[in-house]
Amino acid sequence: MSAATPQEALEQAALAGIHCLPMPTPFAVGRVNCYLIEDEPLTLIDTGPNSGKALDELQSQLDERGHSIDDLELLIVTHQHIDHLGLAEIVVQRSGAKVAALGAATERLANFDEDAEAEDRFAVELMLRNGIPEEVTVALRSVSRSFRGWGSHVEVTDPLEDGQVLSFGDRELQAIHRPGHSPSDTVFWDEQRKILIAADHLIGHISSNPLISRPLDGSSERPQALVTYIESMRKTREMPAEIVLSGHGEPIVDHVALIDDRIAKHERRKEKIYKLIAEQPRSGFEIAQSIWGNVAVTQAFLTLSEVIGHADLLVNEGRVREVESGDVVRYEAVRVQN
Ligand SMILES: [Zn+2]
Repeated sequence: MSAATPQEALEQAALAGIHCLPMPTPFAVGRVNCYLIEDEPLTLIDTGPNSGKALDELQSQLDERGHSIDDLELLIVTHQHIDHLGLAEIVVQRSGAKVAALGAATERLANFDEDAEAEDRFAVELMLRNGIPEEVTVALRSVSRSFRGWGSHVEVTDPLEDGQVLSFGDRELQAIHRPGHSPSDTVFWDEQRKILIAADHLIGHISSNPLISRPLDGSSERPQALVTYIESMRKTREMPAEIVLSGHGEPIVDHVALIDDRIAKHERRKEKIYKLIAEQPRSGFEIAQSIWGNVAVTQAFLTLSEVIGHADLLVNEGRVREVESGDVVRYEAVRVQN
């Protein structure tokens, strides 16, 4: 029976032993949804950020269900973002739980500090190359450093292959790699109950940012995060899911309509960006400024990721090309000869 409302979806998930535990975060996104699966093994999906407040709430929300952190037997990490995994080390220390996450992300997760540094260097280089002033990159880097304390390194004991099935006493969950929002995004599919635990791959009330991040395989090529994300969404669209449990906000009860809407929005934004480029060649930063004004400065990396993602689509379509001018890359329209 399919759920008509997000509230019904939460109730049906709870009847299936999957309980949403919303954890506080210090970030603009608000609470992050962790999920407790009351099964054998007792499983927590994601932990919330590394803060005393989140730890207290995790403990009290587990208490309400008659469990404690010590009882957890398996921790599943959906992706590499700190709001989802910050308490992993503490949870594992207290419980001795095994940790399952995408195998390709194992090294990343184990070397959190080095990885965060490398990620910041990558972001700064990308921003400079796309015309963002150096002082803006310096400011953003210090913001990013100040956030790092909410993260944690994670020792993965059970690395997952794409498509691998995890067996529980009362269910099976298939781990499926759905990169785009981050390179390590993994969703968990209960085919029998038609429930998809999607974390940040799909969020009902906000569009998941296709943030540009270093490839998991260590290659130096800049990934096309939005291109990858749209491919991932198209695959998820074909799944007969009735309930999609998200990493933030309410469950999604009509993922096909949501995905169609998101893809249409990206299509419209792509055309808007094409118009700006067709007027005159522009850097990624100049495009972001004409769309978002000062937000292109305060949220420089986020808005640049958006612009580059859509420009990638245009480049792949052969309508736009990248031109080097000095140290900065500009996008220019490809004129078709008639
Ligand atoms: Zn995320």
